[in-house]
Amino acid sequence: MITTGLGYDIHRFSEGRPLVLGGIVIPHHRGLQGHSDADVLTHAIADALLGAIGERDIGHHFPDTDESLRGICSLEILSHARELVTARRATINNIDATLVAEEPKIGPHFDSIRQSLALTLGLPVERIGLKATTNEGLGSIGRGEGIAAMAIATVERPA
Ligand code: MG
Repeated sequence: MITTGLGYDIHRFSEGRPLVLGGIVIPHHRGLQGHSDADVLTHAIADALLGAIGERDIGHHFPDTDESLRGICSLEILSHARELVTARRATINNIDATLVAEEPKIGPHFDSIRQSLALTLGLPVERIGLKATTNEGLGSIGRGEGIAAMAIATVERPA
């Protein structure tokens, strides 16, 4: 059977931290706040994968109360989600994600982000969809207070 999962995440900007999106460090004057590397895009994708196999969210698997996880590279979280998919004899069909941010411009980093995600998930890069949009100045994202991401994952698994 084919199932889908939905993921959403948001992190606020924080001075003095690197900005990591899809495992790639994006040159920017500030990063995102979080217990891990705060990779909002990777978190949304991991949650989408977990949802597609009926698993609980990444906050359950990687609690922010666990000091051993401080500063963890979120690609490790994504790898773990991939392992849970594989453990169910399921395969990932495709991922699609949208970043919502007023800044920085994501365009120059699209290819490297997609390649990073494809490598981590063991997928051809064509199976990773990635888009970016602004929030048209509306709300917290529009005021440039943070970055949000949403993602959908489709997996094929035994009935
Ligand atoms: Mg997060």
